[in-house]
Amino acid sequence: MAQVQRMSRLMIKTLRDDPADAETLNHKLLVRAGYVRRTAAGIWSWLPLGKKVLENITHVVREEMDAIGAQEVLLPALLPKESYDATGRYDEYGDLLFRLKDRKGADYLLGPTHEEIFTQIVKDQCSSYKDLPVILYQIQTKYRDEARPRAGVLRGREFQMKDSYSFDTTDEGLAASYDLHRAAYIKIFERLGLDHRIVSAVSGAMGGSASEEFLAPAPAGEDTFVDCPACDYAANTEAVSFVSTPVDGSAHGPVEDLDTPDTPTIETLAAHLGVPASATLKNLLVKVDGEIVAVGVPGDREVDLGKLGEHLSPAVVELVTAEDFEGRDDLVRGYVGPQGLEKVRYIADPRVAAGTAWITGANKVNTHAKNVVAGRDFEVDEYLDVVVVEEGDPCPKCGTGLKLDRAIEIGHIFQLGRKFADAFQLDVLGQQGKPVRVTMGSYGIGVSRAVAALAEQTADEKGLCWPKEIAPADVHVVAAGKALQTELALDVSEQLNAAGVRVLVDDRAGVSPGVKFTDAELIGVPTILVAGRRSAEGVVELKDRRTGEREELTVAEAIARLT
Ligand code: ATP
Ligand code: MG
Ligand code: MG
Ligand code: MG
Repeated sequence: MAQVQRMSRLMIKTLRDDPADAETLNHKLLVRAGYVRRTAAGIWSWLPLGKKVLENITHVVREEMDAIGAQEVLLPALLPKESYDATGRYDEYGDLLFRLKDRKGADYLLGPTHEEIFTQIVKDQCSSYKDLPVILYQIQTKYRDEARPRAGVLRGREFQMKDSYSFDTTDEGLAASYDLHRAAYIKIFERLGLDHRIVSAVSGAMGGSASEEFLAPAPAGEDTFVDCPACDYAANTEAVSFVSTPVDGSAHGPVEDLDTPDTPTIETLAAHLGVPASATLKNLLVKVDGEIVAVGVPGDREVDLGKLGEHLSPAVVELVTAEDFEGRDDLVRGYVGPQGLEKVRYIADPRVAAGTAWITGANKVNTHAKNVVAGRDFEVDEYLDVVVVEEGDPCPKCGTGLKLDRAIEIGHIFQLGRKFADAFQLDVLGQQGKPVRVTMGSYGIGVSRAVAALAEQTADEKGLCWPKEIAPADVHVVAAGKALQTELALDVSEQLNAAGVRVLVDDRAGVSPGVKFTDAELIGVPTILVAGRRSAEGVVELKDRRTGEREELTVAEAIARLT
């Protein structure tokens, strides 16, 4: 049976002040409440309470994955380069990949995601259509050398992900595996108590076709999405411009050649096209060498190059040259090669001069347009449109004004298709006795990120405030007084524990009731039980962490209430 967790024996040190480097609520609170400790930039140690929360999330994820018939495996994080060479991702990932060598000089990497390895395993293990469909998953450590590992465990360079992969012989099969995941994810996020939206997403570096993200609305989120209040339309703004705004520009203004002797500024362009110059996502769509390309314009939003890749000519990629970053080597990580987006360059400092490109991750670029200017740095055949997504824009489905919000990406599901199967020639023997190329899906949940997302969505000014299933305990018992109170607190704790209630009891000697109350609110267990003033009469106080509602009850009543 589980033990009562005694704070007198728990390795926990709560902090009154926010850590100096913390920008987001979850980062501040998880550190202050003693759940996690920073080991290096983007690398976190999980302390006893944090580990419990992480385990609780893992448990929910595992149950729901098992429920759709997915089989759990555990693959290595240390992976051979050859597998990722087969798909080109060893290079494609650019600086995001942790690369290393063994003592013989052979190349390895730390897995950022495992499509390649799963494909190889299934090629080994499955030979007939009768072996499929199969869904495999793992809950495992991933490594990505994120350019901006801010925001605590929200964006780690080492983090926990549940990743699963489906293998089918037909498109219908893939769609069914995808739907199974979609339904499982809804259950998972509901059980976790995470408010979430399912939005259309661009597939980015993964390639493939259908893709949706599970976003948890929160101001600390790094994604922006639009949501229609009247119908089911919702999309990441990374995806919305391609969905909602026709390239002919009719949504926002006339399409004409803009013939200006000087290089047009975005303001000139915006005025020309009849759109406001200030907006959330601004992609300038232009034709270069007869091809439509999108160029980011001033602002801090991201343009997904993975999606744009098909339209992107080298001319645009070449805009980001070494010269643009002259003297800013400290800010530069990697580069964009002249042949296309082979490597990425990242400028960490938002104060970097306008005119440089700001690339985040392997597949996103945001170009600050004054150095890098259409018309001066490359020839423009025709200005097509400025794609703008703004609060109140008409929903592409029903025309109602769209809402715009920030959110945290907590899950992502992809129909990959045959891209990876092609790379490894993953075939099985079909019903007709001929080889059939397998089609795949890949599905991720940010398990450690979910801890941060939950903290962001549920915390208040006093501290963390966990949903019941996720909290490190069900009840936080506080001994507010001397020996009598401690004795009662421990007794109640044992009784609750015997009834299967998970208990954290603050039995620390020499710690004032005030400090214990503050800590209890910071730690965020849903119910607080106080053995205080009226302990001699056998009366305790029950307090709801979220609402602050309190009630005095006898010990027997309190136990009956909580079991
Ligand atoms: P992001 O856009 O935030 O960088 P991503 O699109 O690169 O995430 P995916 O490749 O879709 O991430 O990975 C699946 C899931 O893993 C994501 O939906 C997210 O919840 C989680 N995840 C991705 N990167 C990180 C990270 N650096 N730290 C923690 N969780 C992450
Ligand atoms: Mg990423
Ligand atoms: Mg993403
Ligand atoms: Mg994603």
